[in-house]
Amino acid sequence: MAASMNRLRADVLKTARAMNRTGLNQGTSGNVSVRCDKALLITPSGLAYDICQPDDIVMLRMNGNVEGGRKPSSEWQLHRDIYRSFPDASAILHAHPPWCTTLACLDREIPAFHYMIAVAGGDSIRCAEYALFGTEQLACNVNQALKGRSACLMSHHGMICFADNLEKVLELAIEVENLAKVYCRILHLGKPSLLSREQMNEVLDRFKEYRQPDVC
Ligand code: 13P
Ligand code: ZN
Repeated sequence: MAASMNRLRADVLKTARAMNRTGLNQGTSGNVSVRCDKALLITPSGLAYDICQPDDIVMLRMNGNVEGGRKPSSEWQLHRDIYRSFPDASAILHAHPPWCTTLACLDREIPAFHYMIAVAGGDSIRCAEYALFGTEQLACNVNQALKGRSACLMSHHGMICFADNLEKVLELAIEVENLAKVYCRILHLGKPSLLSREQMNEVLDRFKEYRQPDVC
């Protein structure tokens, strides 16, 4: 149990570092967590991921109690409430990626301009209403925007997404940022034509059988 916990702490840190290395995020912005039994492991607040060590990753009970010496991410309620509301969520990544944040600062959602929008579970990637970072209100707004989705933008802030595990959540975040980038470019050139709800439902159906089954 202790060994697997150490492994999970190292994996959270690896994902946070990868989020900065891939250009999804910068500095101490953003945060990463993983569900762990009746608790979560989350990056510490305001600590550079390069100097952070696995032991600095904070264990937080669902009731908000913290174990260890480090202060958890200021967005711990945001993460905790997503785990509470979405049983499918096993890993969460929040970042301030440049293209997602550009759209979020215009309060724009990403519509179905491309079939890959379905990676986030629906026919749009919504933008959650603005609230101060680290607040219960922000957690509530994001929960709303995630209904039927696994990713959303956050007004005047950034992006958040969840998945089955840490590898998949990083992959999803990179995909959402790429979609935001292409959408911003399209907006420069003109008005995008959108896929219909029927076309997106077809994509969503196709996605159910798209991935390789997990190999043990
Ligand atoms: P933390 O360093 O507290 O995780 O905050 C970063 C952030 O992105 C707040 O929204
Ligand atoms: Zn943030």
